[in-house]
Amino acid sequence: MVKITPTPPSKPAASKMPAKARRGTAEAPKVGFVSLGCPKALVDSERIITRLRSEGYEIAADYVGADVVVVNTCGFLDSAKAESLDAIGEAIAENGRVIVTGCFGVEEARIRAAHPGVLAVTGPHQYEQVVGAVHDAVPPLHDPYVDLVPPEGLRLTPRHYAYLKISEGCNNRCSFCIIPSLRGDLASRPANHVMAEAEKLVKAGVKELLVISQDTSAYGLDLKFAESPWKGRPLKAKFLDLCTALGDLGAWVRLHYVYPYPHVDDVIPLMAEGKILPYLDIPFQHASPAVLKAMRRPAHQEKTADRIAAWRKVCPDLAVRSTFIVGFPGETEQDFQMLLDWLEETKLDRVGCFKYEPVEGAKANELPGTVPDEVKDERWHRFMEVQQRVSERLLQAKVGRTIEVIVDEVDEEGAMCRSKWDAPEIDGSVFLNGDSSLKPGDIVRAKILHADETDLWGERATE
Ligand code: SF4
Repeated sequence: MVKITPTPPSKPAASKMPAKARRGTAEAPKVGFVSLGCPKALVDSERIITRLRSEGYEIAADYVGADVVVVNTCGFLDSAKAESLDAIGEAIAENGRVIVTGCFGVEEARIRAAHPGVLAVTGPHQYEQVVGAVHDAVPPLHDPYVDLVPPEGLRLTPRHYAYLKISEGCNNRCSFCIIPSLRGDLASRPANHVMAEAEKLVKAGVKELLVISQDTSAYGLDLKFAESPWKGRPLKAKFLDLCTALGDLGAWVRLHYVYPYPHVDDVIPLMAEGKILPYLDIPFQHASPAVLKAMRRPAHQEKTADRIAAWRKVCPDLAVRSTFIVGFPGETEQDFQMLLDWLEETKLDRVGCFKYEPVEGAKANELPGTVPDEVKDERWHRFMEVQQRVSERLLQAKVGRTIEVIVDEVDEEGAMCRSKWDAPEIDGSVFLNGDSSLKPGDIVRAKILHADETDLWGERATE
């Protein structure tokens, strides 16, 4: 057994100062490390320690001085498993706060049966999960005078909104898309990791969280909706549970890339209650069953118009944004007309439309029935005409209402804001002309005075 209790190699000059002096009055948190098994496990341990050190953790020299102990286990032979269980038992007896990782971590039930007190169990190569478990047990310190990176990370968005990625990859196989071959199958982040990031962002001044992934409504499927500890209670990696927890953070929460699966119905009451924004970004792509089938779209058999109508009964203010493709191989005039009729019926609030383009490596390239470019152009124009009419009517209906808006930009001419029905970059704006006293991120009430087919104009409400 290798018990790693090293002084980390080559400390930078600044770290010759005691931890206390480097980090103000707070002590740097200390992690004890026990590494069992082969050299591959040892390298895993080194990676975890390196990451923890870069975040300001000290490596404790003994059990007693550690705030938490990580045991990197071996699960190759029965004897190695027994040794791992012993090492976990020793760490619990000596310290009490233990995180288990490594090859034996795949047998979580067995570990928890022997040692119910372990804080977290993760498997081999799950570096992010181990580090996340350490964060949960002992949060890292952040000292803005020493750390180059703020705790919420570096972002390219304005300070008042941020994208929150909840998973990578995708289990769907839409025929026009190569993302699964580039990014692999769905890999969801544990719920407490998502929440920890979201909380940091809100603490750093973010007012609006934009939840993104390739398929947001599939969140947690790959993890079998596993629970992880968050604020002293278990939180499931499940779409509804995550939305509920995010809704408690006090920021605007906007859902992107949702598919119309039946379980999406469950989040609509959260929108009606004002917990999360009444906004769903659902890339429908088409309305004709034949085209959707050729596209191999998820949830393509759902009666989406009925579903949207039912959602609006629960949350009348719901805004639905979507994107569509016209001119997909095999799309007939009848399919296209079906799409236009569906648009008139569903009255989506915000819509983008693309002319189909083949993507190298996509299955759709093998489909017959290529639509000529001039037909694609003509359909695109007809589509946009219908949508502009729908959008203008919907926005006109907002004139006279008093609504909450978030300020995006301010100049001498006034403030450019957004309503709850508008995502940054892709949807419309609410202009408060002449109101230059606001600052980005302010959330104020505005009376809507005027609308066109894209944007709204108003003035700050006095009541
Ligand atoms: S288009 Fe389809 S396959 Fe591609 S990322 Fe979206 S849901 Fe997944």
